[in-house]
Amino acid sequence: MLQDDQKPKLSPVQVLRCTSPGCKAWVREEMASGKDMSCPLCNGAMIRSFKHLPELITKIKRQKKKDNGNESVTH
Ligand SMILES: [Zn+2]
Repeated sequence: MLQDDQKPKLSPVQVLRCTSPGCKAWVREEMASGKDMSCPLCNGAMIRSFKHLPELITKIKRQKKKDNGNESVTH
């Protein structure tokens, strides 16, 4: 269960928003390919806008790098 003090962080994210009235489609700008993106739903024009979205939680695998890079030790 979510507790009140564990609200997700909202951060402004640049998005492309559909300009057609009644259409609420939008995509993250980083997901959009190309400059002129048309709405995937109604094929209308998209404009740049901001949305406050919870930060994406991405699992980042940290690769452990050994300080001693050389494992071949000559005796
Ligand atoms: Zn649209």
